[in-house]
Amino acid sequence: MIGLGISGCSAARLLAESGYTVTCFEGESHIGGSLFEEVRPNGIRVQSRGPSVFHTDNEKVYQFIKRFGAFFPYNHRVFLSYQNKMVPLPLNANSLQSIFGNRQADALLSRLSAAFPGVKRISVDRLIDSHDTKLIDLGRFIIENILTQNINLVEGSSFIPADDSYTNDAYVDIGNDDCYYTDSIQAMPMQGFMSIMEHMIDHPAISVFLNTNALSRIAVHQDNSTILLDGVPFRGPIVYTPSLDIFFDYRYGALPYRTCRVSFQDIDTDFQNECAVLLTPKSKEFIRITESKYMTLQDISGQTSLMLESPYVPLIKGIAEPFEPVINDESREQYKKYALLAKECPSLHLLGRIACFRNFSIAECIEQAIDTITGL
Ligand SMILES: Cc1cc2nc3c(=O)[nH]c(=O)nc-3n(C[C@H](O)[C@H](O)[C@H](O)COP(=O)(O)OP(=O)(O)OC[C@H]3O[C@@H](n4cnc5c(N)ncnc54)[C@H](O)[C@@H]3O)c2cc1C
Repeated sequence: MIGLGISGCSAARLLAESGYTVTCFEGESHIGGSLFEEVRPNGIRVQSRGPSVFHTDNEKVYQFIKRFGAFFPYNHRVFLSYQNKMVPLPLNANSLQSIFGNRQADALLSRLSAAFPGVKRISVDRLIDSHDTKLIDLGRFIIENILTQNINLVEGSSFIPADDSYTNDAYVDIGNDDCYYTDSIQAMPMQGFMSIMEHMIDHPAISVFLNTNALSRIAVHQDNSTILLDGVPFRGPIVYTPSLDIFFDYRYGALPYRTCRVSFQDIDTDFQNECAVLLTPKSKEFIRITESKYMTLQDISGQTSLMLESPYVPLIKGIAEPFEPVINDESREQYKKYALLAKECPSLHLLGRIACFRNFSIAECIEQAIDTITGL
């Protein structure tokens, strides 16, 4: 098992429960990957790589993750900071009223209902393609004021971001319930995601090597299909979650990823903001501010912590943690070439957001791990 983010930890556990002896190599001094958490001096647990919420319609995935710790129901709320107002995202009836005033908002809602009968959430793509100039203007408003950071687009879409953490920003909701996700299951782990992942790999058949760059142990043989472990052919399954370009020594160049610099502020107050996540897409300094206490249920009075994310920047090969793949036509083609090389190695199985070059959610990572390991 290479890499111990949520994909690696889930797969390691599933392998162990299928009777395999599992050896895990993790490059960092800790497990967790994108879901790494730390505890601030004031005791507040923060997600160090960005706010992450568990959400899915897949009951099987929920049943699996719940085995490793209790969850509490959690409705994620994201607000946009717009001209000194705080408006719910995705834009909904409340947001439209706050931005455009009651009369214009009512008119827009009527036009939305008429153009898209029975649809609760309407994507920016559909607004732009509508024949109603007011709805096209609304679509443009979303693109210019909310989607400024998104360069990854869902395949076949002109505007919908692929990144799970932003997808809902590209919709307008005709209701007024201020809820960011629509999935039937939305929850957070009582003790955090790190605790979940630690429990996943806590199994007698799993051994973990931290601070171990897997590429110092495994390599592809000259025959391009056999994987070598410490120079000796290894016949068991190798499940790989880091970036594929490194594994093949950047043969087709470095795949593009974006990364982000985060900083923290600890403040002597109960709560600083009105919701868990505040988007400030026009700011050059911070694009997103997360108040973790909303997402942890921790009972710590008089203290709060903010996580501030700087605008995302391209990742310089190997210098920082890849947050998300930069998906466009060129990078898709480049990735396909690496995927073909990987296919030549029958024992190599790719899992997760980085290795598969897809903006998977947490639940999708687990679903893929279940499908892959069950199919071995
Ligand atoms: C800012 C942000 C917000 C998000 N928000 C949400 C959300 O709200 N809800 C949701 O469902 N999903 C969200 N996601 C997506 C979700 O967090 C990821 O899809 C998931 O955590 C990815 O897990 P992974 O195991 O596939 O990859 P990673 O977590 O990246 O794990 C890969 C692991 O491989 C290790 N590694 C790398 N190179 C080597 C090497 N050479 N040798 C050994 N180990 C190595 C890394 O250290 C890392 O631990 C978000 C993602 C980001 C970045």
